[in-house]
Amino acid sequence: MLTLYWMNTKIKSMIVIIDTSAILSGKPINFDNAIMITTSSVYNELKPGGRDYQTLQFLMEKGLSINSPSQDSIDKIKTISNKTGDLNRLSVADMEVLALALDINTTEGKEAIILTDDYSIQNVACNLNIKFESISQKGIAKRFIWIRRCLGCGKNFKENLKTCPICGSATKSIVSNRDSIRKRGRDDR
Ligand SMILES: [Zn+2]
Repeated sequence: MLTLYWMNTKIKSMIVIIDTSAILSGKPINFDNAIMITTSSVYNELKPGGRDYQTLQFLMEKGLSINSPSQDSIDKIKTISNKTGDLNRLSVADMEVLALALDINTTEGKEAIILTDDYSIQNVACNLNIKFESISQKGIAKRFIWIRRCLGCGKNFKENLKTCPICGSATKSIVSNRDSIRKRGRDDR
């Protein structure tokens, strides 16, 4: 059973948002003391039948509820993820998970923590001061910005260009502007 550091803190009411990667990890998820939520698009990403769907059914029996984020928060996630270069790496379900966290964090006395192994979700969460926890992989230690680098002339582009506008060569995604993440409560375990 997974135990998270904040489970012993009673300052705010913590709500765990379960994303698709957390369910696909196959790790047991069981939070007896926490409110668990997810979004309908996460629900819809999992096809009926199979282990992952069973995990979802199990979580729903344990109280997992399905919520929808506000359009305002979806728009904000799109803006921020466009700036960090994560926009094209996020599925609709990923964006809804992040937007739901924003909605919760603006509700008085409540705080969201996203359970996810997805680095782009983690990166955008970081940029918005949303807490997250990895379930199987090590979480990101630095927040970053994705850029494209030309494989021909080596020039960098903030825009998501597949072809270099200067020399016409292909580009590839690289990480730039790494910033250490302030570790918040993660060291208090
Ligand atoms: Zn070039």
